[in-house]
Amino acid sequence: MYVLGIDIGSAACKAVILNENKEIIAKRVVPIGTGTTGPMEVFDLALNDAGLKKEDLALCLATGYGRFTFPFAKAQKSEIGCHAKGINHLFPEARTIIDIGGQDVKVIKLNGKGNILNFVMNDKCAAGTGRFLDNMSKILNIPLDKMGPMSLEADDIIEISSTCTVFAESEVISQLSKNIKIENLIAGIHKSVAKRSAALMHRSGIVEKVAMSGGVTRNRGLVKSLEEEIGTEILVHEDSQFAGALGAALFALTEV
Ligand code: ADP
Repeated sequence: MYVLGIDIGSAACKAVILNENKEIIAKRVVPIGTGTTGPMEVFDLALNDAGLKKEDLALCLATGYGRFTFPFAKAQKSEIGCHAKGINHLFPEARTIIDIGGQDVKVIKLNGKGNILNFVMNDKCAAGTGRFLDNMSKILNIPLDKMGPMSLEADDIIEISSTCTVFAESEVISQLSKNIKIENLIAGIHKSVAKRSAALMHRSGIVEKVAMSGGVTRNRGLVKSLEEEIGTEILVHEDSQFAGALGAALFALTEV
């Protein structure tokens, strides 16, 4: 028996196929979000990897910003619930989850049973989100997956003082016109995102252990920068990017 969880985000679509023993049979990400061919692509890719047809699925459950738009999903759940479920599965000891997605940042607090106690969200400002990092990667002409490793080579941090995305971008461009070490500038970009996430986390209160979910977990430089801001280790799993889709698949198992 197989189920598929699909997380249709603003920046990326993720899919996870589980068997009845909660084992991951396939997982895929496509870096385009809701309103694109992303949901269909990620669905087909995951099924293909698993050697399955859509008729073989007992249930497809969708989460994320675009969860009500996917025709093959017969059930939907909120992103908050799915990220909590997915992270609780990967790290039962986590009590605070920081999810930095493409266009918002969420902090979710869990109790010892994995139930949600509360959450706070910033969806008003792009400055602390994955989208900000995507824009910076374009301005710097450095692929997103190189930003993390490069920032870890920094020997100083060029701080970005602007709190607004548009002004921060101008600030980065003006730094580029100077003879600076690019690694130090990327470290500064990560610090500015980390500071915003840390402020949101402090607003909700940080209870250890802290775990991170979402695509920005792929950026180890950002994770390190956030650890420095909050003074606490952050748990990251190789599947943390898939936490929402994994949570959706786990919910699907409970509904068949
Ligand atoms: P959403 O669910 O809102 O679509 P995700 O949680 O999938 O967002 O996160 C998307 C973000 O993850 C992107 O904006 C990007 O900054 C980051 N990201 C994705 N893949 C990578 C990667 N390989 N290296 C660094 N950052 C990444």
